[in-house]
Amino acid sequence: MTHENSHLRERAQKAALIVANPQAFKICEGCDSIVKKHVATCPNCHGYRFECDPAVIAEQATVLGSREQRSVVAQDLL
Ligand SMILES: [Zn+2]
Repeated sequence: MTHENSHLRERAQKAALIVANPQAFKICEGCDSIVKKHVATCPNCHGYRFECDPAVIAEQATVLGSREQRSVVAQDLL
């Protein structure tokens, strides 16, 4: 339980970081992961199509940070 809680808190912190600075990220259209803007292909599925609208990215980050994991957030966000 403790591990689960800290995991969720870590996700929430990452989500807050993205919400505060959405223009530094983009969303993979293949797997809905949020990745750093500078990556050429998605580190999770190697997709190369991305959603770059900051409003959409902030909304997606909020969803990922507030729910149980249903999509993968790239490990190298920080
Ligand atoms: Zn992907």
